[in-house]
Amino acid sequence: MSSKPWYANGLRFECTQCGNCCRNHGDYTFVYLAPHDVVAIADHLKLTPQAFVADYCKIVDGYVTLRMDEPACRFLEADNRCAIYPVRPKQCATWPFWEENLARETWEGPVKACCPGIGKGPLTPAAEVERIAAETEAWYDEDE
Ligand code: SF4
Ligand code: SF4
Repeated sequence: MSSKPWYANGLRFECTQCGNCCRNHGDYTFVYLAPHDVVAIADHLKLTPQAFVADYCKIVDGYVTLRMDEPACRFLEADNRCAIYPVRPKQCATWPFWEENLARETWEGPVKACCPGIGKGPLTPAAEVERIAAETEAWYDEDE
């Protein structure tokens, strides 16, 4: 028997550009990069993928992540904009509609606590939320 998800009427989110998700919060701060993220960002910066990874990334448990400096990602600008916005990592572009965030207790708990955009702005329909979440999963599942 299938039942509707708790967010069947959609979820509200609108980024307030507080910059919180681009700041270093310690151990839990990881921006994972898929191979296509690496290629796109390196190209944007006019670097080889190897040079980009060496300078801007940190390998965590075999995964390529964006190196998080103190107090924030190197690409966070003074006005809280992203310096690589057109090619920002998929993880950044699809927040907060990630599969792992869609349990009610997660959405209303830690996700809302760290992101003031939750509950604001227009409703994103449930089908679109799920499309974005699935697209994000697929992005990271694809191997180079
Ligand atoms: S924490 Fe939320 S509201 Fe703040 S910049 Fe990130 S996505 Fe936008
Ligand atoms: S790449 Fe851009 S959007 Fe992602 S954490 Fe860095 S500044 Fe924020």
